[in-house]
Amino acid sequence: MKTLKTDILVLGSGIAGLSFAIKAAKLGKVCIATKAACAESNTRLAQGGIASVQGKDDSFKSHIQDTLTAGAGHCDISAVEMVVKKAPKMIDELYQMGVKFNLSEKNTLDLGKEGGHSHNRIVHVEDRSGMAVENILLKKARENKNITFYEYHFAIDFVKKNKKCTGAIVWDIKNNVDIFFNSKITVLATGGAGQVYKTTTNPPIATGDGIAMAYNADVKISDMEFVQFHPTSLFHPKANGFLISEALRGFGAELSNKDGKPFMNQYHEKGSLAPRDVVSRAIFNEMKKNKTECMYLNATLLDSDSLKKNFPSIYNTCLGLGIDITKQLIPIIPAAHYICGGVKTNLHGQTSLDRLFALGEVSCTGLHGANRLASNSLLEGLVFADAAINFIKKNFIKLENIDENEILDINFNKKPLKTNIQISKLENKIRETMWKFVGIVRKAEGLKKAELILNEIEKSINLLLLNYKKNQELIELRNLLITSKIITSAAIKRKHSLGTHFIIGNQ
Ligand SMILES: Cc1cc2nc3c(=O)[nH]c(=O)nc-3n(C[C@H](O)[C@H](O)[C@H](O)COP(=O)(O)OP(=O)(O)OC[C@H]3O[C@@H](n4cnc5c(N)ncnc54)[C@H](O)[C@@H]3O)c2cc1C
Repeated sequence: MKTLKTDILVLGSGIAGLSFAIKAAKLGKVCIATKAACAESNTRLAQGGIASVQGKDDSFKSHIQDTLTAGAGHCDISAVEMVVKKAPKMIDELYQMGVKFNLSEKNTLDLGKEGGHSHNRIVHVEDRSGMAVENILLKKARENKNITFYEYHFAIDFVKKNKKCTGAIVWDIKNNVDIFFNSKITVLATGGAGQVYKTTTNPPIATGDGIAMAYNADVKISDMEFVQFHPTSLFHPKANGFLISEALRGFGAELSNKDGKPFMNQYHEKGSLAPRDVVSRAIFNEMKKNKTECMYLNATLLDSDSLKKNFPSIYNTCLGLGIDITKQLIPIIPAAHYICGGVKTNLHGQTSLDRLFALGEVSCTGLHGANRLASNSLLEGLVFADAAINFIKKNFIKLENIDENEILDINFNKKPLKTNIQISKLENKIRETMWKFVGIVRKAEGLKKAELILNEIEKSINLLLLNYKKNQELIELRNLLITSKIITSAAIKRKHSLGTHFIIGNQ
């Protein structure tokens, strides 16, 4: 197998991978391997923005408390304090790089409000904050001579020697060859796993690859039972899980039934701006009670010009699908949105495997606990990338690449799969199973059932892996299965409800 030596290997080109790579390029040569086009990421889709204390009436104490409250007592307080206190510096860095955050009439940062936040503290670029940040980070990274991009390069597994990570096997999809990227430091920044569920706001790249790679390498994974379901994804056959940002509720839109009658006040004192898990369960409950396929978000009472100005993506996307949000109710359903757990790290982003770091959504830093506070995750990617660099740079000079013996080609002697029909069927079965039994409201017997079904699916997948040459769909199927099994077994172990893990019935 071809070997490519580098100082630092970054897997993934979302906010975590890119912000790390830009700083790491001061230390040495950085390779970024990313499985699709560079901009394909959860980051690109983020709408609301980045939480950061800015206003005079706000305080770190309040942001910390809101994060801890959302996390249901399961957060690591030191991670929360670190992230909240570094937020203004991170915003300033992005601003200096050229991210044009919205400004208020007084020329200060315009601050939006989202569920669970006691103050207006969401720094944003209209309702396309993620895209704005991703574009600037990509531009900066591309301009940097020490960074080389490998697009359509799919990381498959880590390579270990003497209990150290020595790099990763990455498949060059277009040329159909495997490459061993041999690195002094490897950074896992492959994002989330929303695709394990039938309904998700995540793009197709979010197949839990990093979680599966960590699992295969015996790297510690934690808190996977905590899956956040976003209450309001657009319900429309052509919507592909399009998100109706919480910022719209922060702006005054209210959840309602089909007649525009609000229902959230029966569930929580904060009404439509209650924490996400509460809102998702309320919608789920109302749908069951009313035997409907969706509920609605009512923005028709808001000023239509302000709506169009502040939410251009939402307005235009809905209009393109025949829904004028200034005049019509928006049909919504909850969708899998964010995996609070992941590859366990310390405050430097270090994993349990030496020389392997995990950053961003793939990691479990302790910030989110049992439920993520809105707009804390882009921030987490930035802060932990910064913390990892500060840690790595102290020891970097002493590090050498660790040579490997020859790595065997896993495709040796295998035939190609003629069609992907069987893969699609198995994928759909995983997604249906996870949605039905390991979703918003869980039951002990449902979780056990999911475990049995996933075990059966595993047998079929193992046969495919044994007999056929790999292709992207097959490896993603492997990763979806591993991630689903980890979520399910973590959910089985946690007998009582906590945060996003809501369990009823025989406990
Ligand atoms: C619709 C939507 C709206 C959101 N809104 C907000 C918001 O307003 N504020 C907020 O804080 N958070 C928001 N989030 C969450 C936030 O966007 C993500 O948590 C964050 O962007 C994750 O960044 P990341 O760099 O860890 O991963 P990503 O941005 O997902 O990047 C992962 C990268 O890894 C690559 N990759 C994956 N697997 C492999 C592999 N096997 N090999 C190589 N490369 C691989 C992908 O192609 C991608 O480039 C939102 C999420 C969604 C889906």
